[in-house]
Amino acid sequence: MPPPFLPVAEAKETKMENQSAGISRRRMLQAMGLAAGAAWSPMGAWADPSDSAGAGGNQETKLRVALMGLGSYAARVAEAMQSCKRARVAGLISGTPSKLQEWGTKFGVPEKNRYDYGNFDRIKDDPDIDAVYIITPNALHRDQAIRVAKAGKHVICEKPMAVNAKEGQDMIDACADAGVKLLVGYRMHFEPNTLEVIRMRKAGDFGNILFFQGLCGFRIGDPNQWRLDKALAGGGSLMDIGIYAINGARYMVGEDPVWVTAQQTKTDPIKFKEGVDETVQFQLGFPSGAVASCLSTYQMNHLDRFFMTGEQGFAELQPATGYGPIQGRTHKGELAQPHAMHQTLQMDEMAGILLDGNTPVVPVDGEEGLKDLKIIDAIYAACDTGRRQELRPG
Ligand code: NDP
Repeated sequence: MPPPFLPVAEAKETKMENQSAGISRRRMLQAMGLAAGAAWSPMGAWADPSDSAGAGGNQETKLRVALMGLGSYAARVAEAMQSCKRARVAGLISGTPSKLQEWGTKFGVPEKNRYDYGNFDRIKDDPDIDAVYIITPNALHRDQAIRVAKAGKHVICEKPMAVNAKEGQDMIDACADAGVKLLVGYRMHFEPNTLEVIRMRKAGDFGNILFFQGLCGFRIGDPNQWRLDKALAGGGSLMDIGIYAINGARYMVGEDPVWVTAQQTKTDPIKFKEGVDETVQFQLGFPSGAVASCLSTYQMNHLDRFFMTGEQGFAELQPATGYGPIQGRTHKGELAQPHAMHQTLQMDEMAGILLDGNTPVVPVDGEEGLKDLKIIDAIYAACDTGRRQELRPG
């Protein structure tokens, strides 16, 4: 079980018009002056005040999302989407027929918009779906995303986007070839206190950033769950929870690392089998000279803390990545942005990205997901070799 706090080219669109009902629908709405709603943005992440005709919950301006994999996180997403102004649950994909029935009834998804893993390619002929949100075990993401892209629907994929950089690149290529967008479920990129720290850093409030610390972990339970199965999880804690420290280091410092060192420790080799990491400590070096020191673990509870210091000030977030409210302070005082369900914010903002072409403050596209996967690959390589790994910027 996840811890209690745990927590996708314009040039290609012409090619896709006959394939993607979502994009055609968007063009039609734009022509009618209805493809709007970008003005809705609680934290100014992508405000476009000139484009607000469709705000106010107009059903026709909503992103219609099919959820794939009806597990515990999908349940949270589905509930949070009930509060969305720009997105709604419009389809379901599951390997469990009883869930399709139950979730279909609960969220008002008609039978014609329910699929299983064998037949979901038919979604390409479903005019009621714009995007598929993949919320299945990590190692399934690549193939499922490629099938969704081939069906002409936008892909929203949970983190980690894939289990290594090669698979992540395959997903990016498939989406580019199909002319659909690929987004990764980085909900923290829309979280108000996190965005406030990023705003302050960009404004120079901390001066030059010198150091970041990210502590991310929880004590994992059931030894038989997919998170502890390398074939489904692709790894261990680093894939699941350590990725928050990697991603957080990048959005807090505002740079991409150029080197990685890492060490792995394992106290329970029975539970944490070959290829499934229990605890990983890693260090990142950034082009400016800033460094990060991070811990990822499946063996310690209550680890959800970011700390960053610069020449002129600091920021501390604890909890930093949980479902919220995110709390923290800087050298200027407490962070006090309003809390809202992360998944509600995320899905409304993603609707703005997919339907209106908005640009988020912190990217959530496939390239963003790929950066984290390259770092994960490098961390594992550093653990295996004991040697510092160099990363190419970008
Ligand atoms: P769960 O185990 O709760 O749910 C996964 C679901 O995937 C299952 O219920 C099942 O749904 C489906 N599935 C398809 N094939 C398999 C398989 N072989 N084994 C197990 N399940 C399968 O996992 P989570 O919901 O916690 O995690 C799913 C994804 O979401 C992961 O990538 C995880 O990293 C991410 N996540 C992200 C979070 C965030 O805060 N952004 C938080 C938690 C998870 P069905 O029966 O409908 O087929």
